[in-house]
Amino acid sequence: MHLLLLGPQSMAKFVFVTGGVLSSVGKGIITSSIGKMLQTRGVRVTAIKVDPYVNVDAGTMNPYMHGEVYVTMDGGETDLDLGWYERFLDLNLTMNSNITTGMVYQTVIEKERNGDYLGHCVQIVPHVTNEIKRRIRHVAGESKVDVVLTECGGTVGDIEGLPFLEAIRQMRLEEGFENTLYVHVALVPILDVTGEMKTKPLQHSVNELRRIGIQPDTIVARSRKMIEDEARRKIALFGTIPENAVFCSYNVKTIYEVPLNLDKQGMGAFIVDRLQVQGQEPEWSKWKSFVETVLKPRHSIKILLVGKYAGLTDSYVSMSEAFRHAGAKCQTEVAVNYVESERFEKHPEELETLRDYDGIFVPYGFGPRGSSGKIVAIQYARENDIPFLGICYGFQLAVVEFARNVCRLESADSTEINPSTSFPVIDLMPEQHKVKVKGATMRLGSHKILVKRGTLAHSLYKSEEIIERHRHRFEVNPTYISTLEKGGLVFSGRSIDGKRMEVLELPGKIFFLASQYHGEFRSRPGKPDPEYYGFVKACLDRKLGESRLRLNS
Ligand code: GLN
Repeated sequence: MHLLLLGPQSMAKFVFVTGGVLSSVGKGIITSSIGKMLQTRGVRVTAIKVDPYVNVDAGTMNPYMHGEVYVTMDGGETDLDLGWYERFLDLNLTMNSNITTGMVYQTVIEKERNGDYLGHCVQIVPHVTNEIKRRIRHVAGESKVDVVLTECGGTVGDIEGLPFLEAIRQMRLEEGFENTLYVHVALVPILDVTGEMKTKPLQHSVNELRRIGIQPDTIVARSRKMIEDEARRKIALFGTIPENAVFCSYNVKTIYEVPLNLDKQGMGAFIVDRLQVQGQEPEWSKWKSFVETVLKPRHSIKILLVGKYAGLTDSYVSMSEAFRHAGAKCQTEVAVNYVESERFEKHPEELETLRDYDGIFVPYGFGPRGSSGKIVAIQYARENDIPFLGICYGFQLAVVEFARNVCRLESADSTEINPSTSFPVIDLMPEQHKVKVKGATMRLGSHKILVKRGTLAHSLYKSEEIIERHRHRFEVNPTYISTLEKGGLVFSGRSIDGKRMEVLELPGKIFFLASQYHGEFRSRPGKPDPEYYGFVKACLDRKLGESRLRLNS
């Protein structure tokens, strides 16, 4: 009975990544790097992020506190680590790859209410842990891979993480030693005063893990510099693992170097050997050439991100990576400067600083705070022909700006900002009017878009049909489309039924384009997203053109 609840056994092997000492040490990057080391050896992988918080998904969390909400193609609002997995491993994951306490409990409680537990007392062990294991195994079955990586969010010792650690502890028993691997990632601080590497916090976190019943198979020390032999010896001794199972992830110029560095230390070979998966010689050439272009750019441009969450760059992580990928394609370093849009409301004179940038970028956002600052920045970019790219809220506010200043609908607004505006050029989508619940109720995930021939968008995508990911409640109000078009705005991308506006552009400008969708979620190293690439290229061409002019004068 107990075993039946676990579902069918899959053929996949399982790597579990836990973290110690403190969070934000880069477990997501290390998990992605492990995946990359396996993938370059021909091993098929997928990745899961386990988030012990009680939210059902990340959709209701403030990006200022938790960083960006990543959107999967099937409309999952997930932890930003899924973005790292997708970028490093060039995968398109589903919402099943993010498992939260909220989700697990919701299912268990629903089953209990249905009477599915047949009168049993419902407990954390085995009912909650079974549900966690079922979800992990479901991803293994669904993805048909050789190895499933599961990263446990938070730090070992957190109360809320315990059921997840208990579940992965049980998986060793059920799946077997050769089919499971525990990787523990922990910080090794270096004291400022003496320059000494301290392994004691790491030793304590390993002890905490063992108390729960998990003995790590390998430890990754996260440190500013490569760990010294003495530190390695101590980690091996107190961690009860051989010295050749201790690896170090040290600070690098670009995080895309991490898998290369870990592989150089023998981690890829160690994992393949330990899990007994068929692995060929690793093939790194494409990855290396991407890393080299990131490290040695020939040009540089400077763009300004005018946002609402500018104080926490993790709020825009997929966007800044999309700029990196786009920059690499034209051997350009894209320096992204962040400014809180409210600054331009309080100090309009600072708008003049926009001239110092090669491009202006207005990202996603929610609510009225800072929206006027974004609108004046868009106006400045349009009037001064500074390349402009807008994403989601950036798209909607570009419509508001154009309606106000070109179509002369002076009080035009989005009803998200002013519900009683006389010109609601951006309004709630019809299906959103009745929605009261906040979680998972936006227009989410991949939708098809028709791109108009002969437009800038068409020249970027080179296709009349694209599929892009969405996350929004509001859209261009159809009542105003013809007015906006008469004013010169071109809607070069629309939904399949022609009703929803998806891309706008302004012919005659160097580059003025915005999209209702989020191209950044499809951007990968070596495969930049077309709208980000087009923008970066336009900024670069303008800069080079201008510097050439200056040289000639
Ligand atoms: N707040 C806007 C909406 O809900 C834009 C959302 C976004 O930028 N992701 O439609």
